[in-house]
Parts: sequence; C-alpha cells; structure tokens
Amino acid sequence: MSWSNTHTHSSFCDGKYSLKKYVTQAIHLGMTSLGFSSHAPLPFPCDWCMKSESLLPYLSIIGQLKRQFKHEVELYAGLEVDYIPDHVSPTYFQKQEPQLDYTIGSIHYVDFFNNGTPWEVDGSFLTFQKGLKEIFNGNIKKAVSRYFALTREMIKNHTPTVLGHLDKIKIHNRYAPIFNEQELWYRREIESVLQSVKSAGVILEVNTRGIYTKKSPDPYPSGWILERIHKKGIPVTLNSDAHHPKDLIRLFPDTSKHLSNIGFANLKILKGGKWIDQPLTT
Ligand SMILES: [Zn+2]
Ligand SMILES: [Zn+2]
Repeated sequence: MSWSNTHTHSSFCDGKYSLKKYVTQAIHLGMTSLGFSSHAPLPFPCDWCMKSESLLPYLSIIGQLKRQFKHEVELYAGLEVDYIPDHVSPTYFQKQEPQLDYTIGSIHYVDFFNNGTPWEVDGSFLTFQKGLKEIFNGNIKKAVSRYFALTREMIKNHTPTVLGHLDKIKIHNRYAPIFNEQELWYRREIESVLQSVKSAGVILEVNTRGIYTKKSPDPYPSGWILERIHKKGIPVTLNSDAHHPKDLIRLFPDTSKHLSNIGFANLKILKGGKWIDQPLTT
C-alpha cells in the first residue's frame, strides 16, 4: 500500500531535520503524498511552535520543494493550529495564508492560569496537575469537559480541515488513572464531539504517535471511539504526527489493519489536490 501522511513536524518547529529530509524519506518509502504541518505560531512564548517570522519562509520552501519533486511525490502545505478563543484558530491562518492546502486543528491548551499563562494539557504531568488544581479546583470532569467543549467550538466556528488527536488528554492516565473512558459523562462528551465533526464535515485523524512514544497503548482516538466513528460514517485519515523522518509511516500497517477490522473501507488521503478515498487494503 502506498501511504500518505499529512501530520509531520520538522526543524521549523519541534521536529528533527529539514523539510527536504522528509521529502527524500517519503520518496524512499514510495509514499503517494506528504503534508507538512508545523505548529502554527502562537501569540505567547511557546518552545515547540514555529516563530511567526518563520511562517513565510516555511511556505516558500514548501513551494520550492513542490516544484523540485513534482515527479516523485505530492507535497502539501499545512499547519497544525491551536484553538485559543480570541487568540488563534485554524480559520485565522486559512484566511491569512492562501498558500495553505489544509489545517489540522488540535487542542493543546485549555484556559489560563491566574497569571495569564495558558495551561498546556498535553505537556508534563506536573503541569497538568497544576492546571487541574488551580484552574478547575481539582475537578477532572470539569477540566476534561472544557477540553472537549473547546474542541467542539473550534470545529463549529473555526473549522479546520482535519481534527488532530481528538482524545490526547487521555495520556495522563498512564501516570495515574485520572478518569475512566467508560464512564458515562466521558462517553457523552466524545459522542457530542463526534456529532460536531460529522455536522461540520471535518476529517478525523487517527494518530499513531501516542503508541510509539509509549504515551498511550492505543491510537488517538481509542479503539471504542473508532468504532463509534465508523458507525457514524465519519471519514478518517491516518497520520503518525512524525517529528523525525524515520517515523513517517510508523505503525501504519498495524493501525490500518485495526481500522479494517473495525469495518472502515477507506482512508482519506490528499491526492491531486483533493481529499480522496483510498481503499484500505492491508
Ligand atoms: Zn498536536
Ligand atoms: Zn503534531
């Protein structure tokens, strides 16, 4: 199977190596298409994001690479964008940069500490515990529900092309069982996010990074959520969220098999400038 991946990070943000290294690796792997999705610049200090002055050079290098390698592999310009109300959103960059082929909308921050610092929810467990205590009074249900409320708000009002790592907040369960995915409130939150995804016509990402970085035993989203996604007829795309060229298609064969066993027949991939259905043949 010839793979595609639209979720990749390079030295423009917190990934390793130049964009070109990813291109040569994609050609080596015989990939159909490769999309770049550096973390979009944020209006406050962030050590894993692209600097705002790098955005134009980033887009221009992708443009050059597209021309240089047009006979070898299809390349696409994207960004992984946060949604922070009144600060940043996927549609902000879509409007600003017409060269963008797509955006991945991902929630990495939920609300702010009293001193105005945004709370990063998928960083260290220590930071997670601090925000949970100081912003949400230790109420995990309220904190997680807020994470999903922001996800829905982004999907509805600032619609990205792809929704990134839907349930990444579950990573903290590996340190301590902070919530149980089977509890009714959590299942309801997920169901309501899936409804928003379906209504907005957003493509849902199946992301393998949590597994190979050992942050999660299963992909984002979890297996039971993938079953719900399949039942609802929501289209999915397969990504590895690669921060190193060696991870470009990491765990794709296993995860495709998993998807196929659930009943999915296709993956959405970027080909010929369009999101098309690629049959899942493993
Ligand atoms: Zn992310
Ligand atoms: Zn990412």
